Parts: sequence; C-alpha cells; structure tokens
Amino acid sequence: MRILILSDLHSNATALDAVLDAAQGRWDLSVCLGDVVGYGPDPNEVTARLRELGTQTIRGNHDKAVAGLMPTDDFNPVAKSAVDWTRGQLQPDHLAWLSTLPPGPLATDGIVLVHGAFEDEDEYVFTPEQALDGLLESTAPVTFFGHTHHQGGFSYLDSHLEVLQIRPRPSERFAALRVEPPRRYLLNPGSIGQPRDGDPRAAFAIADLEHQIIEFWRVPYDVSVVQGRMRAAHLPEQLIQRLSVGR
Ligand code: ZN
Repeated sequence: MRILILSDLHSNATALDAVLDAAQGRWDLSVCLGDVVGYGPDPNEVTARLRELGTQTIRGNHDKAVAGLMPTDDFNPVAKSAVDWTRGQLQPDHLAWLSTLPPGPLATDGIVLVHGAFEDEDEYVFTPEQALDGLLESTAPVTFFGHTHHQGGFSYLDSHLEVLQIRPRPSERFAALRVEPPRRYLLNPGSIGQPRDGDPRAAFAIADLEHQIIEFWRVPYDVSVVQGRMRAAHLPEQLIQRLSVGR
C-alpha cells in the first residue's frame, strides 16, 4: 500500500493540483499533517479537495486558529491577518470540517502523524534534540511531521541520531529513502502551499512501507497565478513574495 503524504497546504489550490497530477496513479490512500488553510488565496478549494479525496487529516495551528480553537496572540501580524481573512472566506461546512479535525499524534495504516513536535502539536522540530521525542516515543517506526515547511528528517538507531538530507536536487523530481528496520524515522514531506527550505516547488511524499521506500517529491507549479489571486484578495505582500523564493 502506498500512502500519499500531504502537509502545510496553506490554501494554495494551484500547488495542490500540481501535486495531485504528479502523484496520480502512485498512491492508494492519502493523509494530511495539517495547516490545510492559512496564508494562501484558496481556503474553500483546498478544503473541498481534501474532503473529496477522503484524506485522513490532523489539524495544524492555522486550522485551529481559523476555527477559533486557539488564540492568535502568538501569530505574527501577517499570519494573523491571513487567519482573519481566511475565516471570513470559508463556507460554513468547510469551517465546521476544519474545527473537528483531530490533533496528532494519530496512528494510521502503520505510520504516525503529527503536525509539530510529538509532545506539542504547535512546537517546531528543526534540531536533532527537538526530534528525539518523536523518534523515541512514537508508537510506529516511521512518523511524519510538518509545521516547519522544511522537507527532510531524522533517523535513529543504537543511540545514534542522524539528520537526513533527502531533498531532490533542482533537476530531479524525487529522491528515495530506503527504510531500514529497526531504525526509526521522523520525516517531513515538506510544504505544498508555502515551502520555506529554499526550493519554491511544492513538496510531498509517498510512503511504500511494504517495499520499504519513501519518496520525497518536488513539483513546479505556476507561482505567479497564485500570487495574482493573493493580490486580488489583498493578502499581505510579504506572503506573496515568499512563494517565489521558497523562504
Ligand atoms: Zn504550516
């Protein structure tokens, strides 16, 4: 069984379409690590697409904020204004769906899903020290996380933690990671709607645990049409610009 792993879509329907095109015929079921909405111009389209696909989805901090389940005091002004705009745009049934998303960690189909850190869904995992909880405490050998918008991850065996450099080069569409039991893994598929690791292409992963292969993908999409929709919606210029550089 091949699992399509989506994360941090951030209301970017053009990027999501490019991902689903590239992944067509390559997956059996889909999961999402949260941040369906926030920042981008297409909250209704992206939420509708996940609901149509029947994607098993956990909540991200932006989904919680838009649904009114957490205060936005900790959000920077730009993120907060996008949260407010998104809440005003969402159809009531999509908003209701977002507000009922479960938190991670969620065990499903042999993997575990978290949005941020294993112990705290709102915490960022950038360093090996921050990754340890997820590597050691998860109920599955392979755990996927999002939130940082950086594709990559960590592995652990015999008290040794390794940082995994598994992003495809600019000339490549995907890079494959071989899973080697009993090694444990904490992996980030990257962000679809707002990458921040220096590669503006939409990021996702496909996990095939029967064959012990996880593919990390990057696909280009028309960034300028998304930026046009963001300008028309008067979303903050800073959010518009960062899509061009993936930072
Ligand atoms: Zn996010």
